[in-house]
Amino acid sequence: MKTIIEPFKIKTVEPIRFTTIEEREDILEKSGYNPFTIHAEEVLIDLLTDSGTSAMSAKQWAGIMDGDESYAGARSFYRFESVVKDLTGYAHIIPTHQGRAAEKILFTLLGGAGKYIPNNTHFDTTRANIEYSGAEAIDLVIEEGKDPESLHPFKGNMDIGKLEKFIRDKGVENIPVGMTTVTNNAGGGQPVSMANLREVRDVLKKHNIPFILDACRFAENAYFIKLREDGYSDKSVKEIAQEMFSLADGCTMSAKKDALVNMGGYLAINDPELAQAARNILIVTEGFPTYGGLSGRDLEAIAQGLLEVVDEHYLKYRLRSIEYLGEKLTDAGVPILQPPGGHAIYINAKKFTSHIPSDQFPGQSIVCELYRFGGIRAVEIGSVMFGKTDKKSGEFIPAAMELVRLAIPRRVYTQSHVDYVVEVIIEIFKHRDSLKGYRILYEAPMLRHFTARFEPIL
Ligand SMILES: *Cc1c(COP(=O)(O)O)cnc(C)c1O
Repeated sequence: MKTIIEPFKIKTVEPIRFTTIEEREDILEKSGYNPFTIHAEEVLIDLLTDSGTSAMSAKQWAGIMDGDESYAGARSFYRFESVVKDLTGYAHIIPTHQGRAAEKILFTLLGGAGKYIPNNTHFDTTRANIEYSGAEAIDLVIEEGKDPESLHPFKGNMDIGKLEKFIRDKGVENIPVGMTTVTNNAGGGQPVSMANLREVRDVLKKHNIPFILDACRFAENAYFIKLREDGYSDKSVKEIAQEMFSLADGCTMSAKKDALVNMGGYLAINDPELAQAARNILIVTEGFPTYGGLSGRDLEAIAQGLLEVVDEHYLKYRLRSIEYLGEKLTDAGVPILQPPGGHAIYINAKKFTSHIPSDQFPGQSIVCELYRFGGIRAVEIGSVMFGKTDKKSGEFIPAAMELVRLAIPRRVYTQSHVDYVVEVIIEIFKHRDSLKGYRILYEAPMLRHFTARFEPIL
């Protein structure tokens, strides 16, 4: 086996800034110990998110120059539309400025008080948009998907028994749509099998409930299917993706993930009436239907990115670079969510810092130390993001898992960057007993993790 190399050469480079530990301690204090509020320039290796952080190809940049900026009917829209239609097979392609804008439109139309929307695991913006509409967002991932050590090959799968029971309990009339997120971001970037997508489709179809994919990482999911599911090794990733899309009635998409661009998204659906209603909202909130919230050049870059992301040399390198990080950490005894997902490695903070209780945010503690010690920015996905305080009893309800996500931007960092990250984490693991818990000083009513301020509990 030869080393799996980056399948590209580097044409443009961007310097990264080195800071000292003392400088970073100062920065952390000023930021309220929340890396979301640190200036990106003060970060050495930025693993905060894989969203909108991709490096674009020469062809995508050429598309940026070639974008048609006509208000209505731009050539770039028609190119975008034809690429998305070819990939997804959906009839109506509605560009939005990012994934959550597509969600906002969809749940403005389908959500509302008394409604329930099941998913394997809702991503935080999806959940927020559903709850904002008055509806409830319900997670029905398989039990293995909640066990950080389970090696199930498709930990993003929906629990079909739970889905059927859920529909019976809540009533078909209260479930306007069912969703599956590929890959399951909030559950560790874990893939969903084609067999499971088909079962979800069958259950929903039996009850006439439309099925919408949250398709942000469709290509990574399709490549996992190719590697792990019987009958798919000889199919191309594009064919597998097309089959995935064919099982649903539409999708929401953040182009900031598997369309390899820095901004953009879309809602793609078959239902003509729903599409018409969506376009009516689009015009008020995003823009005219042939640009949504985007420039013509953005539409060009998305179209090109969607062609590039199904390239199997790219996907092989992509999944291997995540797995490589996971392997090195596992070999050093660092507890991570197994097996590595498609876009990130998740440190199991409950185990890593077992001396810090959930209500003192073990994940946040690791995130702060990654920045202090190594200049690395990561994000807590645990009780800061998903924990709650019961309104009546005032009791703290922790998240199901306490994780720290190291999301790998697409085509941005090389193997030596990853090696550096490994070295830093292993050093921190050695001195983990010195890490402290945190308390929240300020939190917003929704999506608190973006703006919360913390202080260490000394
Ligand atoms: C990023 C993401 C979204 C939201 O997309 P934005 O472009 O950030 O608004 C929705 N679902 C999943 C699974 C995501 O990863």
